[in-house]
Amino acid sequence: MRSTGFFRAKTRSLIGFAMGLLERHAGSVPRSMAELVPLPGIGRKTANVILGNAFGKNEGITVDTHVGRISRLLRLTRATDAVKVERDLLPLFPRPKWTLLSHLLISHGRAVCVARRPRCAECPIAGECPSARQAGHG
Ligand code: SF4
Repeated sequence: MRSTGFFRAKTRSLIGFAMGLLERHAGSVPRSMAELVPLPGIGRKTANVILGNAFGKNEGITVDTHVGRISRLLRLTRATDAVKVERDLLPLFPRPKWTLLSHLLISHGRAVCVARRPRCAECPIAGECPSARQAGHG
């Protein structure tokens, strides 16, 4: 069993978020970054997920561990802080593709460009990737 207590923190966040929705937004999920981010348990990453996937609004790019790692491997950013990674990525991609970009990078990070053992020999973007390793070299 992994980290005991993690579910408690998640439960606390969800309850805090639900209370915030009830108290500040009459139980509805708001549709703007400015209204979402101050709610308990919501950071910019989660707000981007909600806005992009629930409301089809491309206000930003969701940067999780996969998005950050692959963006650095592709030399799209050198930042490690998620907000700075997002700031570097935003001007590089057309706004209507921001939500899709996160999904694609996350899928790529799970299926091919896995942490510590990227499968560069099978990677369809190896030709564009400055971090590509030759088969047999790692
Ligand atoms: S070539 Fe390798 S390091 Fe670059 S994106 Fe593909 S799997 Fe990741």
